[in-house]
Amino acid sequence: PVKTAAGTKGGIERTFIAIKPDGVQRGLVAEVINRFERKGYKLVGIKAIVPSKELAEEHYGDLKARPFYKGLVNYMTSGRAPVIAMVWEGPDVIRQGRRIIGATNPLDAEPGSIRGDYTISVGRNAIHGSDSFESATIEIGLWFKPTEVFDWKFTHEEWIISAN
Ligand code: UDP
Ligand code: MG
Repeated sequence: PVKTAAGTKGGIERTFIAIKPDGVQRGLVAEVINRFERKGYKLVGIKAIVPSKELAEEHYGDLKARPFYKGLVNYMTSGRAPVIAMVWEGPDVIRQGRRIIGATNPLDAEPGSIRGDYTISVGRNAIHGSDSFESATIEIGLWFKPTEVFDWKFTHEEWIISAN
């Protein structure tokens, strides 16, 4: 298979995808995994975790000044359901993952996207996905130890990824 530069269109990238506690409560775990799997992306890391306050605050550090920040951190850390944290790999997976997830506000999210199909409130939008190569790199490092992310190949990789 082709190895192209991460952060470019078609480049083999990794992104951090997390099913938030409301998505887990809603029974959307299999649905989310299915949408990434059937597209052809590769699951290279997965675990259930109740994030510490420190982890959630760091993860959403760029939103610290926003009025919803505290509620957001509480919702992520409550433990009323774990977060399902994942690393997905494949061509353009960062941008495509954001498309599969849909717009931040579910009322703007296209039908066919996860948020568009299953959610109606921005404060309960079920899923997180990294928004850039830089944030994907940071977020994977925050949520996963290197030994929890696996390098592996589909035996049928040539039927998913081609150089032309
Ligand atoms: N959020 C919220 N109210 C808002 C905007 C965002 O509760 O007005 C929450 C929502 O869960 C969102 C998260 O904060 O997913 C992170 O916001 P961001 O703008 O990074 O959206 P995302 O990258 O998740 O689409
Ligand atoms: Mg974001």
